[in-house]
Amino acid sequence: MCPYMSDIEDNINKKFIHGLDIHDLSQALLEVGCSPGTELKLAVWIYRKRIFRTGAMSNMNKSCRRLLDEHFSLEPVWPISVSESTDGSKKYLFRFHGNRYAEAALIPSGKRLTLCISSQAGCQMGCSFCQTASHGFHGQLSHQEIVSQLAGIPECSRVTHVVVMGMGEPFNNLDAVLKALDVFAAPWGFAIGKRNITVSTVGFSEKLERFILSSPYNLAVSLHSPFSIQRQELMPVEKIAPIESVVALLRQHPILKPRRLSFEYLLLSGVNNTQQHAVAVAGMLKGLRCHVNLIPFNWFPGSLYKPPSDAEVQLFRDQLAGCGVTTTIRNSRGADIEAACGLLAARRFQDVE
Ligand code: SAH
Repeated sequence: MCPYMSDIEDNINKKFIHGLDIHDLSQALLEVGCSPGTELKLAVWIYRKRIFRTGAMSNMNKSCRRLLDEHFSLEPVWPISVSESTDGSKKYLFRFHGNRYAEAALIPSGKRLTLCISSQAGCQMGCSFCQTASHGFHGQLSHQEIVSQLAGIPECSRVTHVVVMGMGEPFNNLDAVLKALDVFAAPWGFAIGKRNITVSTVGFSEKLERFILSSPYNLAVSLHSPFSIQRQELMPVEKIAPIESVVALLRQHPILKPRRLSFEYLLLSGVNNTQQHAVAVAGMLKGLRCHVNLIPFNWFPGSLYKPPSDAEVQLFRDQLAGCGVTTTIRNSRGADIEAACGLLAARRFQDVE
């Protein structure tokens, strides 16, 4: 999977253009003397057809191919390792320059093939239940690095859904995330349906407003407790971006069909799964077109939280449903390879560097 050393040396002085949108591709190509229109042809080759050798780009003339070879590295960043779960899910590890690592998880489910990608190397949010948070923050990812998490895996062309629910807080790197998602959704890009792309966030008001007004993607907000004091303990961001204000903003700018709004609710046994929690969640979300997605806590070594039993999960689901809330349960996948929600951390590497 890793390119040969000679390829790496060969590419070292070339501009890395994989993952650029059509406008930036056009600019890069014009700068070196390619004719206008080459960008569309190139995008189809490298994004849709996954062909990176210019020799195979049959609709381009010789001089254009020579310019491409001379100036650009056309390949994505490839993953450096892959782990496979007994349940069929996979986890890919990417190493980006500057010793930044990020992981992506691939989750097959019936006809769906969902890729969960990272928006940052590590995370700054410090949520108390999250393994990513416990390993700190190691830098932003560029939009091209985000694109590589899809473009670099062998299953790329079979992926039907993308969720930005891996490492990091997407709203802390929103420009790069939106640029990458636009490449995923573009017809000249990866042609993934807009409705099959979801961004998960803790919620920051000004970024949230921008996301709602300027992007077509689904939104998932991490709720985890309807009570501010408790949410602050779980998610320190509550102090600067209270969930009440996030919900107020969502009422002001409702997410309209066909986009979807969901609230993720992490279930921590004995912490946030009482009847009072269910009633308060229902009160908070009353009248909002949304659903609640329950995520049973995925335990990791050192965490003092406990996962709920199946019976606790069902009970909380029934309590919410009893209050009129549409509720689904997320079945965690890939726990054995630390690919499940909140477990991506690129741990092996960041701990030793
Ligand atoms: N920063 C974004 C993306 C984080 S990961 C956000 O907070 O939404 C996606 C989801 O996994 C979030 O809802 C997050 O709270 C949840 N999560 C984090 N750690 C978890 C764990 N150990 N078990 C289950 N879900 C977890």
